[in-house]
Amino acid sequence: MMTVKKHTRILPVLMCAVWTCAAEQKAALTCDVAVIGGGSAGFAAAWSAAHLGSSVILVEKESMLGGTSTLGGVNNWEPGMGGTGVPYRVYQRLRQIPGVAGVYRFDRHLAWRKPWEKYTFPGGMIETDPCVSYAHTLRRHGPGMGNEAWFREHCRGVIFEPDAMAETMLAMLNETGRCRVLLNTAFCEARHADGTVSAVSLSDGTVVRAKIFIDATDAALCAQLGCELMTGRDRRADFNEPGAPPEPLMRLNGATLMYRITPLAKNEPDLIEPLPEGIPEKCWWQGGFPVAFVGQYPKGGRFVNMLPTMRGEEYLELGPEKAYAECRRRVLAHWHWYQKNYDEFRRFRLKSIFPVMGVRETRRVRGEYVLNQRDLIATLANQKHDDIIAIADHPMDNHGGGGPSGELKGPYGIPYRCLLPLKTTNVLIAGRAASFSAIAASSCRLSRTMMQLGQAAGTAAHLSCSGSVPLREVQASEIRRVMAERIDQFVKELAE
Ligand SMILES: Cc1cc2nc3c(=O)[nH]c(=O)nc-3n(C[C@H](O)[C@H](O)[C@H](O)COP(=O)(O)OP(=O)(O)OC[C@H]3O[C@@H](n4cnc5c(N)ncnc54)[C@H](O)[C@@H]3O)c2cc1C
Repeated sequence: MMTVKKHTRILPVLMCAVWTCAAEQKAALTCDVAVIGGGSAGFAAAWSAAHLGSSVILVEKESMLGGTSTLGGVNNWEPGMGGTGVPYRVYQRLRQIPGVAGVYRFDRHLAWRKPWEKYTFPGGMIETDPCVSYAHTLRRHGPGMGNEAWFREHCRGVIFEPDAMAETMLAMLNETGRCRVLLNTAFCEARHADGTVSAVSLSDGTVVRAKIFIDATDAALCAQLGCELMTGRDRRADFNEPGAPPEPLMRLNGATLMYRITPLAKNEPDLIEPLPEGIPEKCWWQGGFPVAFVGQYPKGGRFVNMLPTMRGEEYLELGPEKAYAECRRRVLAHWHWYQKNYDEFRRFRLKSIFPVMGVRETRRVRGEYVLNQRDLIATLANQKHDDIIAIADHPMDNHGGGGPSGELKGPYGIPYRCLLPLKTTNVLIAGRAASFSAIAASSCRLSRTMMQLGQAAGTAAHLSCSGSVPLREVQASEIRRVMAERIDQFVKELAE
């Protein structure tokens, strides 16, 4: 059973939702697992718990699923280990729809410019390559993008149309027959005592009671429970990280407002779109316009990912609405600069500006374990944890947030304890606000890693409900066994 109140396609206009909590209370809904937030992590958590047999309610404040990976315009999965579970299923579904998803390879990169080349491309460009399979997207660690031959050969990712992604997520949840999706509905308030949540109330007055609650937002639920939150760069002594500053620093990864461009028809003349009144030609927020990562969709058209549009601290200071309005001006200026200075962009026009800001970092919740730089350095082979439920190998990558950056020597594991907020009993945190140090978060925030965390959280929640076992007593080995079984079963289904 599915409740879809309104579905809005991604439009070339700013859609801004302001949520207020309804005073009027509706009848309570009851389920085994309530998931707050329907981004990559929340979707995977809801699907996994429902697919395994739990009744699930997924609450999402926007009009469609996918969060940053759809409405935020991050329509690609970078290369990385661990994408064999839920992301692989999603990819297989997307591939059944012609022209909406494909595997990309790097075509150009600023770092590969030869000294004798006159033309400087301002960033990196990826192109869909029909000859490359999903399996080639499942590794990242290695010498890095400075090594052109290696990077071209090994670093492939996935690119997809956002509407198709959101619709596929919704269809997959629907097909479980056990997940009710509440779109356009925000989580407002939690009823809780001693770290146990009994119910949450939503923006339309609905009350949801559940045995387990999964916070897959930027910690909206955990913040209300009074969980310890971490923001900015952690002090070196906190987690004994060699790359952390001696004292805490309020520096965050930059935020990006993504935009989309579309090719002109063959008979249209070259175009430089004029700047709207009041927007300067010169970059006014830093020394020069930022470089960008430009990605080609399977059917043509490109997304443009400025690196970044706004400092993370500025985003927090301004708040989402003011930050969006300012970033929209920056996008228009950036696009004008591209067209004026780089001929190839005169064969495109601006199609849309994504309706939600891409926010890389806000706050993180302290859990039973905090993943940190020492885990990334140790790699899976040397980590001592026996509760690893996800793996990743993306470089440390902080987009202006300061701190260490660079490729890793191998994959590392993320322990189940990172999903268990301290001083709670029936709550899991999945997604980019899970228990990571700032340095670890700069590596493991990728969409497919978030899906892995969601999958582990949904599996743990189901095991807890079905076996009447407290979350902290669910065995990570059992979570891994169930997740692996699902992958084997899916691979068999594909072969049939
Ligand atoms: C600019 C940018 C570029 C990136 N590039 C890449 C890349 O190339 N490849 C890659 O793999 N990853 C990339 N990432 C990282 C990745 O996209 C994100 O970390 C990931 O998508 C986060 O997923 P999530 O589920 O944790 O959070 P989100 O996608 O942010 O989902 C959270 C959801 O919770 C909802 N929500 C919030 N509050 C409430 C509430 N009160 N009630 C109900 N719902 C609520 C939100 O609407 C949202 O849908 C990038 C990120 C950014 C910002």
